[in-house]
Amino acid sequence: MRVQGFSAATRTRALALGIALLGVGTAAPIASTAGERTHCSSGFCITSVPLDDGIREIRAHHGFAVSTQVELRLELDRMRAVPAEERLALVQPGETLTLARVIPTTAGGSYRYHYSFQTGDPQAVHDDSARYVIPFGGRAPRMLTQRGNGGFSHRGRIAYDFRMPVGTPILAAREGVVAFVVDEYEKGGRRRSLAGKANRIGIAHPDGTISLYVHLRKGAVVETGQHVVAGQHIGYSGNTGYTTGPHLHFEVYRALPATEAGIESETIEILFEDTTGKGTTPVARSYYGPGKAVAVVAGEAESSN
Ligand SMILES: [Zn+2]
Repeated sequence: MRVQGFSAATRTRALALGIALLGVGTAAPIASTAGERTHCSSGFCITSVPLDDGIREIRAHHGFAVSTQVELRLELDRMRAVPAEERLALVQPGETLTLARVIPTTAGGSYRYHYSFQTGDPQAVHDDSARYVIPFGGRAPRMLTQRGNGGFSHRGRIAYDFRMPVGTPILAAREGVVAFVVDEYEKGGRRRSLAGKANRIGIAHPDGTISLYVHLRKGAVVETGQHVVAGQHIGYSGNTGYTTGPHLHFEVYRALPATEAGIESETIEILFEDTTGKGTTPVARSYYGPGKAVAVVAGEAESSN
């Protein structure tokens, strides 16, 4: 993994490529010779359209409610690409954007493409005065099993894992617009092949950052484009994708401007609403919520299950 430019102790960067948790996908290479063909990955689609003289146009579109960066790489054999073999572009909601044309240089040419994408506004700046509500409902407090920059799957990311039974109501941590909903997976476990195959919801906040709710059970109760308020029910916790057991993975991130190195995102250290009004950062192995982030000792939490 290429990790670069740690900008502050509370912020980390991780390469977006292939980290589907972020609403990022990396498609398998496609070899194409026939008519119009479309390949979609978690709501982002690349279409190749045949034009005259063996020329094909590579177009991108997506079903998200936020702008999305795409990185396209072409592998060409006896073909050339206009404007370039590698493209970084920003695709707006509802837009179909032409990324490149591939043009035969001699007969029998072929091409393949790879792409990855990153949902979210690359100009977003987090509003540090924002406070987040604990993103689950029900009655019992839940243990924060893993947070911050480490653990089983959080290296380089600031994220929060709350252990909870499948079916716990998941709530929007802050108001915003539902940016994307992935609601197609049934399976979960410790197998690497399940990485990226988690149901998830992203909510874009007024500052352009996105809160992410991962491993959800199939059955989201919100749709892409819908406005939600803080504390609104959006779905149910589950155990889909690469997990060690039923839990909610929660994080807030912003897309970063694409560079020649590719597309990246950055997770953000946030504060949850507490009873002091100042906000708090939950600590691992303590119990929280629902509602305001007030730590509960384990014995009380377990007896109130
Ligand atoms: Zn996690």
